[in-house]
Amino acid sequence: MNHVKERKRRRKRRAMRRMFWRSMISLFGISILLLTWNLTSCALRYLSPPEERNHEEYVAGGEGSHTADFSEEAMETAADVSGLLLVNKSHPLEQSYSPDLTRIREYGVEVDDSICEPLKNMLAAGEKEGLSFWIASAYRSTERQRELLDEDIETLIRRGYSYSEAYEEVVKETMPVGCSEHATGLAVDIVSKDYQILDEKQAGTDEIIWLQQNCSQYGFILRYPEGKEDITKVSYESWHFRYVGVNAAKAIMSQGITLEEYLDLAGV
Ligand SMILES: [Zn+2]
Repeated sequence: MNHVKERKRRRKRRAMRRMFWRSMISLFGISILLLTWNLTSCALRYLSPPEERNHEEYVAGGEGSHTADFSEEAMETAADVSGLLLVNKSHPLEQSYSPDLTRIREYGVEVDDSICEPLKNMLAAGEKEGLSFWIASAYRSTERQRELLDEDIETLIRRGYSYSEAYEEVVKETMPVGCSEHATGLAVDIVSKDYQILDEKQAGTDEIIWLQQNCSQYGFILRYPEGKEDITKVSYESWHFRYVGVNAAKAIMSQGITLEEYLDLAGV
């Protein structure tokens, strides 16, 4: 009888030992799996294109909690910025480009259909604050751009410039044909109704101060900021606003960067 009991006990002990080792092997297996997963994700992160990493570093390298908040926003918007149209001296607009134009009667100008509502909302919000705006220029056809350029060149030639000197001088202020954002219908020159001259004093008007502070809420950016002339290749234009959508506009204006820099950061 005792002999039988003893055998049963031994069998039980053996079964328990087997269970112990089985669970140890499973635990070991799971740890190996987790370790492999971690190593793979690390490797993938370091194998990702350098632009992406630079972008993260750039964002993280900024100052204060505001920039930390922005990093998520920037990552989110980076995915859909490829739809943003970049037009500058090295990215002329395709000749076939033709915007869907809508006329804004109050100002007698035409803009791309997509910016009509945001533009009206922005100006209405400013007017509620007691400001008065005027749209000095919106959509301009390529032909009109050519006329403007020719007029300015002729003026300088009359003052004694050679054609190439005049051209070089004029394109500092007026975009060459095909390189003007005005041909996209997505850009507007907005001025104070009481001061409509496009010069450095425009920046000091209440209207421009308000626009520069609030434009991003409506999806607009100050396209040619002061101090960024080496990037935009255009002198500071306190009045030229470009529609890029609210997400991109907030990211660009909060960092004080240009559309060129924003697209670079997003790796587009
Ligand atoms: Zn303009």
